[in-house]
Amino acid sequence: MQCYNLVGKVAIITGASRGIGKEIAIQMAACGAKISLVARNQKKLDVVQETINHAGGEAKSVIGDVSNFESFSEIVSQTINKWRQVDILVNNAGITQDNIIIRMKEDEWDSVMDINLKGCFNGIKAVTRQMMKNKGGRIINITSVIGQIGNAGQSNYSASKAGIIGLTKSTAKELGSRNITINAVAPGYILTEMTALLDDDVKETFKTSIPLGRLGKPKDVANLVCFLASEDASYITGQTFNVDGGMVM
Ligand code: NDP
Repeated sequence: MQCYNLVGKVAIITGASRGIGKEIAIQMAACGAKISLVARNQKKLDVVQETINHAGGEAKSVIGDVSNFESFSEIVSQTINKWRQVDILVNNAGITQDNIIIRMKEDEWDSVMDINLKGCFNGIKAVTRQMMKNKGGRIINITSVIGQIGNAGQSNYSASKAGIIGLTKSTAKELGSRNITINAVAPGYILTEMTALLDDDVKETFKTSIPLGRLGKPKDVANLVCFLASEDASYITGQTFNVDGGMVM
């Protein structure tokens, strides 16, 4: 496994119980970082914790809801109590609640905005003071190609992911002088539980719009996130990087 040097670093990764977040956690732990694994449900999170600790890494499950600022502050407090610092935040937790606009219910709009967009705001706000004290930090927000190109039936999701790109740029401008870098990663179609519901013929159609001719794997995203979290990426901030097989260019 390719490893960037994250030895001595402490990372909070939201949505770490499955899919992309789980893979980011496993790879970052392999690079030497200590990981707070965040999700709402304990069971799957504990399996990831066990996998990492069994492989010789250090991880701790922290139950929390990113859409709630108090809950995110508690995630940060628990991380600092255990490891005394936070160097890396990966805002990865996200959901979809698809519907066409005329049928979309207010709560479908609200829950997607609260978890996907406000969740990133909560995370950035909750770690910033600690990172300023540490004189540096890395924040990586997981957006989506859908935030760039839109998608019928996903106006809430698309708006939340486009919002993350704006949030990334503004906070990168605010916190650059504090040596805190903030970047976004925009995956295309990645094979996880979120996309597992798609019919095979839909997946085949997607493939025709992807120059590299395949759907992505969580590892494809995790590779880039580990780089952005490392010292090697210290002169990169405010950017959005696509991991989409060339789907958007
Ligand atoms: P999954 O549905 O597989 O996993 C989502 C994770 O987020 C789970 O660990 C879930 O755990 C957690 N989560 C959801 N809501 C909350 C919450 N309120 N607080 C804390 N944790 C929460 O998603 P993926 O791995 O597929 O996607 C990860 C990210 O990548 C998302 O932001 C998604 O939008 C983005 N993305 C995914 C793409 C894909 O093709 N898969 C493409 C583009 C972007 P729990 O339910 O226990 O809380």
